[in-house]
Amino acid sequence: MTPLEIILNTLSGGKTPRPGVLNPVSSTTVQQMEMTDSYFPEAHTDPEKMFELSRANYEILEYDGIMPVFSVVIEAASLGCKIDWGKIDTMPRVIGKLWKDYRDIVINDDFLESQPARAVLKCITMLKNRYPDVAIIGKVFGPWTLSYEFFGVEDFLIKTITDPDEVKDILRKLKSITIKFARAQIDAGADIITIADHATRDLCSPESYRDFLIPIHSLLAEEIDAPIILHICGDTSDRIDYIARTGMEAFHFESKVDACHAVKVALDRIILVGNINNPTTLLFGKKEDVKKEVEYAIDCGVKIIGPECAVPLNTPLENLKEIERATKNHGSNSKSRI
Ligand SMILES: [Zn+2]
Repeated sequence: MTPLEIILNTLSGGKTPRPGVLNPVSSTTVQQMEMTDSYFPEAHTDPEKMFELSRANYEILEYDGIMPVFSVVIEAASLGCKIDWGKIDTMPRVIGKLWKDYRDIVINDDFLESQPARAVLKCITMLKNRYPDVAIIGKVFGPWTLSYEFFGVEDFLIKTITDPDEVKDILRKLKSITIKFARAQIDAGADIITIADHATRDLCSPESYRDFLIPIHSLLAEEIDAPIILHICGDTSDRIDYIARTGMEAFHFESKVDACHAVKVALDRIILVGNINNPTTLLFGKKEDVKKEVEYAIDCGVKIIGPECAVPLNTPLENLKEIERATKNHGSNSKSRI
């Protein structure tokens, strides 16, 4: 099976000769920028540099998928937010707040014509043409995360308590950005779409996830015509059951959730992805530590292995490569823990 077939088969619940390996969010590091001569911040908006840097996912790390959207600001930049594009070793961020309330929201029809969005779309087409047998993964942000960017985290979270109806209206409106950008990425050649929506426990109670986000995420799953990997950082143990009801194909989750616990809750409703710890294991651990976590996750039943979130930009290359080695070498004689 090709890497693409392994990933697509896995996401549709089929059998594969081995677990998949990829990161549905950024795997890039300064070291890979040096190896590909393609650096931040230009690689966020220059399609050629984005292509060179992202294909390190396959050429250097030998993962089954390539994900070229390194930052979290493409939609915000395209809609008019001020952006600090960062430096070689820092990620971009949104400066200030574009809107104060629901009535301020203006979504220009041509936001995909903006330079940052066009760069992503062009890069995806270049990747698909060059790597037809590798999973090309697009990435968009869900309306919960977009609300943080447009309204500011604090102001938006206050609204969830003071004016839940306005929050529902905001999410309904902003979801059109997510759907439009995802569809454009699919048309450009993306095989899979990551939806990152940071409804993490610190910022979104399980009841908020149930009331605000199950309806919206279910709708995204219907409207976006490609397998979806939902990414939510942090401890999500209290909402995996809800996430599994949305109809999305996969959930990319952090090591704060025990892999065996996640698989037990998800059952066969949603495929689990990720789970290798970034701040301790990948950043400071030894290869043996990485291998141990990979084997634990696979034995629990995580089907696609990878870093748990966007990797820190100084993560050692050897540890990122060890995820690939340990996943592909994982013995077929190992016993399942469940
Ligand atoms: Zn994350």
